[in-house]
Amino acid sequence: MLYNTKLVLVRNLAKFVQMKEDKIKFATKAIHAGVHPDPTTGAIMTPIYQTSTYVLDAIGVDKGYKYSRTQNPTRHALEKNLAALENGKFGACFGSGLAAIDCVIKMLNPGDEVISTNDLYGGSYRLFTTIYAKYGIKFHFVGMDNVSAVEKLVNTNTKLIWVETPTNPTLNIIDIFAMSKLAQSAGAMLCVDNTFATPYLQNPLDLGADIVMHSATKYLGGHSDVVMGALITSNEKIAEEIFRIQNSSGAITAPMDCFLVLRGIKTLHLRVQRHCENGEKIAHVLAAHPKVDKVYWPGFTSHPNHDIAKQQMRGFGGMISFTLKGNQMEEAHKIVSKVEIFALAESLGGVESLIGHPASMTHGAIPKGEREKTGVVDSLIRLSVGVEDIDDLIRDLKQALN
Ligand SMILES: *Cc1c(COP(=O)(O)O)cnc(C)c1O
Repeated sequence: MLYNTKLVLVRNLAKFVQMKEDKIKFATKAIHAGVHPDPTTGAIMTPIYQTSTYVLDAIGVDKGYKYSRTQNPTRHALEKNLAALENGKFGACFGSGLAAIDCVIKMLNPGDEVISTNDLYGGSYRLFTTIYAKYGIKFHFVGMDNVSAVEKLVNTNTKLIWVETPTNPTLNIIDIFAMSKLAQSAGAMLCVDNTFATPYLQNPLDLGADIVMHSATKYLGGHSDVVMGALITSNEKIAEEIFRIQNSSGAITAPMDCFLVLRGIKTLHLRVQRHCENGEKIAHVLAAHPKVDKVYWPGFTSHPNHDIAKQQMRGFGGMISFTLKGNQMEEAHKIVSKVEIFALAESLGGVESLIGHPASMTHGAIPKGEREKTGVVDSLIRLSVGVEDIDDLIRDLKQALN
């Protein structure tokens, strides 16, 4: 049965779409959805269609492609693959995660209001407050794990609820279903930044979201070699708007990058599984370490949003943050400089483990008082746990801590 399914999958995309409902499992979709052997050569890998334009058969007669800002076959394959992974109907890829977010905000009008979380990814916060606030769009930021606090901000101008879960760097979990009910009652769209969870662990569209956003730079690409963003939706009207803005503003991604992300996604399920396993082991090692104070990892039953994490996610991911007893910035600096396998760098989601110090890196521009309100204290260290051998990762962290 599986063999037959696969044959159908690789031979005929249209049939795949029909068969998709409930039947095809994630790993099979990751490898096959959206891609099919190249009709001219049989190449199993989607070619990199490095072309700007397409020759017409006659005026008004094309093969589905006219100009590569509008659409490109390599990008198209990736967009279909991403839509399948998120259980959506339409996907659109952009030059970066922020370009994808920018597209969503461009659907709004002056006077519209957006509610988002107060521990939002820094780049999203900067886009909202320094670019779009001056066009008359109003942004509210609130601790979104408190549903009633969000509800209080909803009014007739609310047009978008922007959720990011788990959040960065303190791994708060926001109840997507509860937010979708609020958005529905307000007649607003709900968009979820699903970068940290990946579609392998969480599918916001199934929980009532209208749009899913990804920084494909992170786990989807997975190999720290590309910057890309994506939007996925099942709503035809929203999809039309997304494609109109994508084509009109032109923040598209390149065919080579689409090839890299398509290739990365073929192992997404394997990688995220291992990110989760390694993450769990490291979270427990840190929690038992005498120098460590708090460990932020949604898999702990003591995590304030653990129950929601368990409901809406299929695993707890590879992102972990922790603080040190005594809360000294100097101590945190020592640790991030002493690790040998963990690399000191921004970003996340690649096969290699990264370590970061938010107070002096990603959150360095935020005043101390402000950043501390969301848990970004002086000794907070963030890990993107990679897929190296767990024994080596634990040994590395222990030697750095000691
Ligand atoms: C990295 C990131 C973004 C921005 O994506 P880019 O690809 O860097 O533009 C947005 N949201 C989250 C949660 C991220 O981690």
